[in-house]
Amino acid sequence: MLLAEIKTRIREAEERAGRTEGSVRLIAISKKQPVDRIEAVLEAGHRVFGENRVQEAAGRWPELAERYPGLELHLVGPLQTNKARQAIELFDTIHSLDRPKLATTLARLAQEEGHCPDLFVQVNTGEEPQKAGIVPDEADAVVAECRRMDLPVRGLMCIPPVHEEPTLHFALLAKIAERNDLAELSMGMSGDFERAIMQGATCVRIGSAIFGERPG
Ligand SMILES: *Cc1c(COP(=O)(O)O)cnc(C)c1O
Repeated sequence: MLLAEIKTRIREAEERAGRTEGSVRLIAISKKQPVDRIEAVLEAGHRVFGENRVQEAAGRWPELAERYPGLELHLVGPLQTNKARQAIELFDTIHSLDRPKLATTLARLAQEEGHCPDLFVQVNTGEEPQKAGIVPDEADAVVAECRRMDLPVRGLMCIPPVHEEPTLHFALLAKIAERNDLAELSMGMSGDFERAIMQGATCVRIGSAIFGERPG
C-alpha cells in the first residue's frame, strides 16, 4: 500500500507547479480491489474514494461508510440512465456526465431526490469513437445546458488516449474549463498524475499506484 508515497509525490508536484499545498485532491480509485486493501487505506486515514461501477460500489461501500465516518465517494465510470437514481443516492460526486440525455435524467431525479451530487462533464479530448464523453466542440453547449437545468457542474474530466502524450489533452481540458468558468479539473491517473497537476488538475484519480495492480 503506497498511499504515503503518492501523497508525497502529489505535494512535490504541487510545489513544482507553483500550486498551493493541498490544492490537489487525491481520489483513491478502489475499483476491483479486494476489501482488505481498501481497509488498509481507510485505516491510514484516507476518506476519498472512487469506483467505476455503481453495482460494485453499492455492494461494499455502505458497510464501509458505517465503520469509517467522513467517507466521500466518487463515481468515475460510465453511468447507465437506469442506475442514475442509485448513483445519486450513493455518490457525493459523479465525474462521468458524458451525454446530454444523462444530464436530463439527473436533473429530473435530483428534483425528486431533493439533492444532486457534484458533477463533472466528461470530455472526450482525443475524440476517440469508442470512448465516452462530449467532444471538445460541443462541451461549451453541454455545460451551458447543464447550468440551465440547475445541475451543479463543478468542472471537467478527461481520460486521454492511451498511446498519446497526455499533457496536450490535459491542457485542452484546462482551456475548455477556463472559458466556461469551471474551477475543477479531474485529470491524471497512476501513470500521469504529475503531468496533470502541472496542467492544473484539482482532482487526481489514482488506483493501481496506491493499491497495487488490480487482480485480473
Ligand atoms: C481505473 C480508473 C482510474 C485509475 O486508474 P489507475 O491507472 O489504476 O490509476 C482513473 N480514472 C478512471 C476513470 C478509471 O476508470
